Amino acid sequence: MTRITIAKGDGIGPEIMDATLDIIKAAGANLEYDEIEVGEKVYLSGNTSGIANESWDIIRRNKIFLKAPITTPQGGGYKSLNVTTRKFLGLYSNVRPCMSLHPFVETKHPNMDIVIVRENEEDLYAGIEHQQTDEVVQCLKIISRPGCEKIIRYAFEYAKVYGRKKVTCFTKDNIMKQSDGLFHQIFDEIAAEYPEIENEHWIIDIGAAKMSDTPEVFDVIVTLNLYGDVLSDIAAQIAGSVGLAGSANIGEECAMFEAIHGSAPRRAGQNLANPSGLLEGAVMMLNHIGQTEIAEKVQNAWLKTIEDGIHTYDIYKEGISKEKVGTKEFAQAVISNLGKKPSLLKEVSYAKEGALNLPKYIKKPAAKKELVGVDIFVHWNGTNPNELADKIQKLNNDNVKLSMITNRGIKVWPDGFSETFCTDHWRCRFKPSTNGVLEKKEILRLLNDAMIENIDTIKTENLYNFNEKPAYSLGQGQ
Ligand code: NAD
Repeated sequence: MTRITIAKGDGIGPEIMDATLDIIKAAGANLEYDEIEVGEKVYLSGNTSGIANESWDIIRRNKIFLKAPITTPQGGGYKSLNVTTRKFLGLYSNVRPCMSLHPFVETKHPNMDIVIVRENEEDLYAGIEHQQTDEVVQCLKIISRPGCEKIIRYAFEYAKVYGRKKVTCFTKDNIMKQSDGLFHQIFDEIAAEYPEIENEHWIIDIGAAKMSDTPEVFDVIVTLNLYGDVLSDIAAQIAGSVGLAGSANIGEECAMFEAIHGSAPRRAGQNLANPSGLLEGAVMMLNHIGQTEIAEKVQNAWLKTIEDGIHTYDIYKEGISKEKVGTKEFAQAVISNLGKKPSLLKEVSYAKEGALNLPKYIKKPAAKKELVGVDIFVHWNGTNPNELADKIQKLNNDNVKLSMITNRGIKVWPDGFSETFCTDHWRCRFKPSTNGVLEKKEILRLLNDAMIENIDTIKTENLYNFNEKPAYSLGQGQ
């Protein structure tokens, strides 16, 4: 018996949750429920996070959370419950299977069957943003070794347990050599541990184009947070079934399962909504908690129901569908198909170890880290980089010298092009005169002298070598 937390959410949430629970109960799911309130009512009662503190206690105790969609009230100040839940509970892995149900649900890609495994906690979604000058804001892209290792290992373990043949990594490491480069490098390291699974890497732009055009060449895709966010919506859409897809958010301790669609308020309370998305989330949940046979039974009955042409309004199509049904009738049809298998759609057969058992991240020994320079970012309203260089070079001393100025990453001094457009945000790179190691106190001295010279410094970034290798990007054009 597994005790889980459920939340019926808003809009069509309660109807699709009831339908989902009816189906999995009839299939023999061995579950007990604690129900909590999340969403609109909680937001409007003045709680900007959409969830009460006591509810967190229940979620953390039960560890497994099946959540119906919620309505986020319009207007500022309300925080996304999904983002908060992912971050608080460390749900690092977002798993979204996107499979076409041809010929029963219309799609241009009849043979599509992919699973997108998206990193869920870091990247640009760390939400660390600052305005630094009149003209420039920045958003930090945070990529960590533990974050990469966990998500990539998850993708390979998923492929192994679910009998998938290939894992494809999508990055943009031709441009972001440090951040996306780390993701790619760790992908190669971990792929080597799974010789039985094919692996490949695509640059995200052409990879996304290929996926939109020929999704059948992909199997499991693992990628960073932002790319995964965009790709997984495209994948669900081109599978023809945004309303049919579920997703899992998996952490080391806790996990949350849901439909990918929202609360569709206009359809609420009319017995119209399709419960399939949440049901697919519940199937992933049953697999995750090891109730694999039940998951299999529910999934095959659901495929059979789709195949029988018993369709809710959203996928009903004259000529293909046989009967237009409501939420409750659809659930009843799935229940009466329990134990049956689809004949045209591929029946599922999950391995008995449906629950993935991933090792905890092991900290690596610290590398040899040497400070070899500093980038000092400056807010300056002039336009001629040579003028700025004259000002900044006053900070040079015997130990450290200005070596380069860039604007939005492109080198503008020395030997810049007059055509390069410059903003008011300048990166001034200082390197030790001897090309050796820089003492940290030199950075403080530089900042102090800059203040005396009326130079508006806005931030610094230390330049390091890790194990003798430079671990920072060069200026473009350098
Ligand atoms: P939506 O997904 O709720 O609806 C988009 C369209 O799809 C609508 O036309 C709707 O009728 C249809 N639809 C969606 N699910 C359906 C289903 N199960 N059966 C039949 N038709 C279905 O997106 P929206 O209208 O942009 O958002 C409505 C609310 O949902 C907003 O408050 C939004 O913030 C919230 N939302 C919540 C989640 C979540 O809780 N995970 C996700 C997305 C949006």
